[in-house]
Amino acid sequence: MPEKTMIHSAWQTALTQLDSVSKLMMLPEDIHQILRSFDRILTVSVPVRMDDGFLRVFTGFRVQHNASRGPYKGGVRYHSELTLDDLKALAMEMTWKCSLAGVPFGGAKGGIVCNPKTFSKNELERLTRRYTYAIMPIIGIEKDIPAPDVNTNEQIMAWIMDMYSVKNGYCTPGIVTGKPVNVGGSLGRTDATGLGIVFTITNAMKQKKMNLKGIKVVIQGYGNVGSAVGKFLSEMGCKTIAVSSSRGGIYNPKGLSHDALIKYYTKNGSFEHFPHAESVTNASLLELPCDVLVPAAMENQITKENADKIKAKIIVEGANGPTTIEADQILSGRKIPVIPDILANAGGVIVSYFEWVQDAQCYFWCENEVNARLKNLMNRSYEEVYALSREKKLNMRTAAMMIAVKKVADAISVRGIYP
Ligand code: GLU
Repeated sequence: MPEKTMIHSAWQTALTQLDSVSKLMMLPEDIHQILRSFDRILTVSVPVRMDDGFLRVFTGFRVQHNASRGPYKGGVRYHSELTLDDLKALAMEMTWKCSLAGVPFGGAKGGIVCNPKTFSKNELERLTRRYTYAIMPIIGIEKDIPAPDVNTNEQIMAWIMDMYSVKNGYCTPGIVTGKPVNVGGSLGRTDATGLGIVFTITNAMKQKKMNLKGIKVVIQGYGNVGSAVGKFLSEMGCKTIAVSSSRGGIYNPKGLSHDALIKYYTKNGSFEHFPHAESVTNASLLELPCDVLVPAAMENQITKENADKIKAKIIVEGANGPTTIEADQILSGRKIPVIPDILANAGGVIVSYFEWVQDAQCYFWCENEVNARLKNLMNRSYEEVYALSREKKLNMRTAAMMIAVKKVADAISVRGIYP
């Protein structure tokens, strides 16, 4: 992934956002203090016997931010640069995301510090099972439900589900979401984040009175999320003009074919030397002229160094935390709307919620039903955020945060503090 520009750590950004929104809302200080802190942070060691016979010990975490509105929910990421501070920011963000979307969960995030790309499938399985075993005391269908995130996928969710079921003594599909459909996964889950982003782009275009057909889109990160955005947009007649992976990107102002991109990447593992396209770095890709820019890779990509060079008419955050606070202010000043992550990329956790509901009922919906319900919730959130941003003359991020924080604060107040 692109290099991190650590002006503010993701955690400092998350706290600053919470502090400023709390002030704006005149949130009682005791509630503000609860929201700034964490219910539980677990650090675990994950010993794994590697294929060469040597033992390596990895560090894993599960961070549970707040469960006032329901069980903890959030992904598990495998990344060599993962820090506890990143996970704290991401867990807090999950609390706001679930709250804004109206799904009855609190926020969590977990992960292992490792580079999974260097692992064999067997090593990855042993790593995942041992991590699951280590976090077992604090996860559960009604406690904390993991899901995929950066570098984890439905196979990894299947191993988590199996490990938990074996220890539990019976098949427990509801322990994770984002698992394969044949073991209780939901249709539509794999593409849900991308589809939700496309619903968001559609809403934003409508609001800007721009025609969706023919718009030029730049997507940083063409993984699970970014490539789903590219797929749906191309079906709708939009033009993806630049994409990237962790190894760099490519640009063709006339448009890139989604099918050709996927075929090429599957064969070569990168977009290097993709025919009829100019190569660009992950950083310069962000500065290309386009209608919609979708950062769908990692945190802290749009910073005070490049925010005034962005030429997009609108930014839709596919990744979690891709814009720093300073960049946000610069973009606000330049009147470039930023549709925040907690609104734009909520499709994943929304369909995770649908999966959890389907598992609880042992009754599964067709893909059209999943997508229609997803559209409904995404549109509802967008309208709510847009209305508040108009009413109070706030940017979309502040409005989204205000709605999300208020619902969690209300839950804390009405439940009261024990003892
Ligand atoms: N990792 C995704 C996110 O950041 C999905 C989380 C989930 O489905 O629980 O929103």
